[in-house]
Amino acid sequence: MGTARLTIDTGALKANWRALDAMSGAACETGAVVKADGYGLGADLVAEAMAGAGARSFFVAMAEEGAQVRAVVGPGAAIYVFSGHMAGDAETLAGADLIPLLNSAEQIARHVEALPDRPFGIQLDTGMNRLGLEPGDWAGLREAVMGRGPRLVMSHLACADEPGHPMNAGQREAFEAMTAGLDCPRSLAATGGTLLGTDFHYDVTRPGVGLYGGLPFAEARPVLRLDVPVIQTRTVGPGEPVGYGNAWTATEETRIATVSAGYADGLIRAMGPRAVLYADGMPCPVRGRVSMDLITVDVTQLAEVPDRLELLGPHQGVDDLAAAAGTIGYEILTSLGARYERAVA
Ligand SMILES: *Cc1c(COP(=O)(O)O)cnc(C)c1O
Repeated sequence: MGTARLTIDTGALKANWRALDAMSGAACETGAVVKADGYGLGADLVAEAMAGAGARSFFVAMAEEGAQVRAVVGPGAAIYVFSGHMAGDAETLAGADLIPLLNSAEQIARHVEALPDRPFGIQLDTGMNRLGLEPGDWAGLREAVMGRGPRLVMSHLACADEPGHPMNAGQREAFEAMTAGLDCPRSLAATGGTLLGTDFHYDVTRPGVGLYGGLPFAEARPVLRLDVPVIQTRTVGPGEPVGYGNAWTATEETRIATVSAGYADGLIRAMGPRAVLYADGMPCPVRGRVSMDLITVDVTQLAEVPDRLELLGPHQGVDDLAAAAGTIGYEILTSLGARYERAVA
């Protein structure tokens, strides 16, 4: 079979949620962010694993994602929608019992008009300038909104992956100022904020990437393994080029294995010159450009070429691959291809 196999370790997913959960006190609830199809791993599989680990609050980006999660976790769990209440969302929000995190006066008006008796939360902007009510907007709306009993008031940190960044304390202060005296659960921390310490945890944390084994949660258990089949092996002599654009030329006799995966599977083309695949712990560098469906790999040093080479696994995680491609683990995760044979370990 020419299809690469992506193995998802649900035990590691659960262990990562429990490890992040253990960082907060008993009064703080740990949620699970499962937007973007569970960061590319599959929303159904991830939501089921998180519910199994003990999560009772889930976060998605869009209402449609929330409806998918509801079908998996059943009634009872809270499912929050970061994009809030967009035009046309009312039926999905009500039908799947979702909680939109309203981010503007316009959204608050839309929600109160369309779904006056349905739950909602509020998103505040504490300096990131991406989503949420600004302090001025909030001051004018706060009393009326609080009278309607929001389920959660939240904000998001811009620089939480840099513990020493002054933005963290600044946003926390802004959040305090905007939420002082409110009788309502509060949430500020994603993975990075959870790692900053309990001052940032409030009532609900919202980890995403750390669940999936990505930085900034350096102690996370790796969740993914990606094994790519070798289709063909050949020997090239000194002076012979490999792949598109003759981007690499052998300087000595080299054994090249061609493996069955490429940028159409989310293996970002830019990683080419720095990426490595592994055979039983032995690194095998990529030679030449990453093609749409194929990658050429130097296996000269192997006594025997295995049927598959490992692209993600114990020797290389999503952040290693991200470094080779000049991006972040989040992008490697959410780019994971639709063509992989997906297996659960
Ligand atoms: C994506 C997202 C999260 C999760 O962030 P991670 O860095 O993946 O933990 C939490 N809150 C909001 C508002 C988000 O957009």
